Amino acid sequence: MAFCTGCSLLCDDIEVDFQGGKIKKTMNLCRKGHAHYDSLGVDRLAPAVDGSSVGIDEAVSAAAEVLAGAENVLLFGWGNSTLAAQGAGVKLAKKLGCVIDDPSSYSQGLITEKILAGDFPTCTFDDVRNFADVSIYWGDDPSSSHPRHMSRFSYFPRGEKRQRGYEEDREAIVIDVRKSPTAQIAADGFFKILPGGDGEFMEALMATLGGKIPKVEDKKKMLNLGTKLRKAKFGVIFTGPGLAHSLGGDLAGFASLVGRLNELTRFSVIPSLSDYNSRGFNQTLFDKTGHVNGVSFKNGVDHGPEFGIAKYLDACDAVMVVGSDPAAVLPGTLAKKLAKVPMVAVNSFKNLTTDIAKVTVPTAVAGLEVGGSALRADGLRVEFDAFVESDYLPDVEVVERMMEAV
Ligand code: SF4
Repeated sequence: MAFCTGCSLLCDDIEVDFQGGKIKKTMNLCRKGHAHYDSLGVDRLAPAVDGSSVGIDEAVSAAAEVLAGAENVLLFGWGNSTLAAQGAGVKLAKKLGCVIDDPSSYSQGLITEKILAGDFPTCTFDDVRNFADVSIYWGDDPSSSHPRHMSRFSYFPRGEKRQRGYEEDREAIVIDVRKSPTAQIAADGFFKILPGGDGEFMEALMATLGGKIPKVEDKKKMLNLGTKLRKAKFGVIFTGPGLAHSLGGDLAGFASLVGRLNELTRFSVIPSLSDYNSRGFNQTLFDKTGHVNGVSFKNGVDHGPEFGIAKYLDACDAVMVVGSDPAAVLPGTLAKKLAKVPMVAVNSFKNLTTDIAKVTVPTAVAGLEVGGSALRADGLRVEFDAFVESDYLPDVEVVERMMEAV
């Protein structure tokens, strides 16, 4: 069996006949995973300094020079990196006495931190497949972002206590601002909310669960939802970026709802994370510092929103982005700020961030060209082997070489 690092489901049941850099035949690979395998020969990053090609050793030295010559360094990204590289990244941040952060500082970091701290109950995807009868996708569209989520785990499959599958045994509830592909599957279980209306929806749901008449237009539908949730035997809330962005830094309403649901029955929370090892970075940093992102090692361990990329770009004078593409996802104003900071980009592929970097350092694609380990979005640790031979360096080796050079 081969492995797919195309998203944080980390599917381990892939059968693929891969010859000459092309897929000849495959089983179980979704369209996103297919593209991930096909990308091995496309848009690969080359070692370069100021746009000129150099050897890998020269690129690593130039990268170390950028980092060592700066006062306020930000090490950012890490979602598409192995656990070993993430661990080395935290050590490098300590050695440089700098800030380390990942995209969760502007997305689902608070939710993940609550899970890791034991404040939100959670479970594994395998528990979901075997036991879950109600899945809530909140600001989350796994049909698009994690194409096998519903078929492997959360809606369509049969499971130990869910032998009748989605036809009779499972409910899908989608709370979103648009009728996404996941919402189309949920059909009547779709609740459309206005952008930023998540807090209001939570209040109405809390009122319903408390036996009150909710202040919403379709009272009957909300009361039915309350009944379904109360009767659930094993519920799960999959949180997506839509929910995180809407709530900003205020999780109080969501925490109350999760608490109330768990007074009535059992409800777990699992964040839908995009990069294959986003959870791994959050866990690695949490184990070392008690925080999942935005940590400064300048004076011991400091943490706060000022050390998240959105704010720290104003203070930093060098940034290294590893396994990530913030230039593509940050708001335009922040992306412009990022473009002005001397940058090292470590990645397997070219992207908008590598295009604006001063130094680029290529790496092998984890799970395909090099083995390693990672945490699935539900926290399960998985190990994977190389699938094809490659001359690219493993990401951990690149980070360790930089550590020696700075
Ligand atoms: S769902 Fe994700 S991990 Fe699974 S095959 Fe698709 S891209 Fe790969």
